[in-house]
Amino acid sequence: MIVSAFVLENIPLIKPDFDIGKLIVEGTELKQHDIVVISSTIVSKSENRIKSLKDVLVTENALTIAASNNIDPRFVQAVLDESVEILLKSPFLLVRTKTGSICVNAGSDHSNVEGADNIILLPESPDASAIKMKDHLFELTGKKVSVIITDTNGRAFRMGQTGIAIGIAGIKPTRDWRGTKDLFGRVLEVKNEGIVDEIAGFANILMGEGNGGTPVAIIRDLNLYSESYGISEMNRPEEEDVIRTSLLKSQLVAEAVERVKQKRRRRKSVTD
Ligand code: GDP
Ligand code: MN
Ligand code: MN
Repeated sequence: MIVSAFVLENIPLIKPDFDIGKLIVEGTELKQHDIVVISSTIVSKSENRIKSLKDVLVTENALTIAASNNIDPRFVQAVLDESVEILLKSPFLLVRTKTGSICVNAGSDHSNVEGADNIILLPESPDASAIKMKDHLFELTGKKVSVIITDTNGRAFRMGQTGIAIGIAGIKPTRDWRGTKDLFGRVLEVKNEGIVDEIAGFANILMGEGNGGTPVAIIRDLNLYSESYGISEMNRPEEEDVIRTSLLKSQLVAEAVERVKQKRRRRKSVTD
C-alpha cells in the first residue's frame, strides 16, 4: 500500500465565518475517500470561538486555582466555563469538557490567536463541525471524504504532545482487532486500535505547532472511509476510568485535609 499525505499551502489567517471547505477545495482536488485533517484552531476561529479575557467574570474558585498555578485568573475562569468537572487543580488544570473529553485547560490556549487578551476555545461540538465540513465538501466536490478535527494534547505518563482527534465524520474511531488471530493463531482479546488518533498524530507532524500556517492535511489511499460518525466512544467510560476516579478521590482527600487545617488555625487563633 502506498499512502500519500500533504498539507495545503493556501489557507489564510482564518476569521469568523470564513468558509474553510471552500478554501480546501480551492487548494487541492479532493479524491473519493481522502481523509481531510483540520486543526481545531482554525475551526474554532471560523466558528468565532475566540474569547477575550476582558469579558470574563472571575469567581472565588478561579482566583484560588490561579494563585496555586501562578496563572491569570481570567484564563482559569474561561477554562472553568467550558468544563463540567475538575480532575486536577494544580500544578495544572485538568478538566472534563462539556463534550466529555478530559484535557488540560479544556483545550483552550493562546497559541496562534491574534490579540494579547484573546484565547481560543475548542469548537463547541467538534463532531458536529466535522459532519458539517464533510457534508459541505460533498456539496462542493461530489466526493465522500472522512474529516478529522485535531488538537494537540499532552498525554498521561508520556512526555511530548501529539495530535489527537477531537471530532470525526466518515471514519470509525477505532479498528477492532478483537477476535482476529495473531501470527501464531492466538485470538486477540484486547486490541482496539485508536486509528483516528494515530492519523491525527501523523497529520500533526505535517501541520506543526508554530508559524507554519498549515492547518489542513490530506491523507490519501489509507482506505478507512466508513459511514460512521462521532468520537464519543473514544472517551473512556466513567466506571472504567480508574485514573479519573483516583484523581477525584485524592481531590476529596486534599479538600478534607485543608478543612481540618483551617479549623485548627481558627482554634489556635482563639486560644492564642
Ligand atoms: P491546534 O493543534 O489545533 O491547537 O493548532 P496549532 O495552534 O498547533 O496550529 C496548527 C497549525 O495551524 C500550525 O501550522 C499553525 O501555524 C496553523 N494555523 C493556526 N491558525 C491558523 C490560521 O488562522 N491560518 C493558517 N493558515 N494557519 C493557522
Ligand atoms: Mn490547541
Ligand atoms: Mn497544535
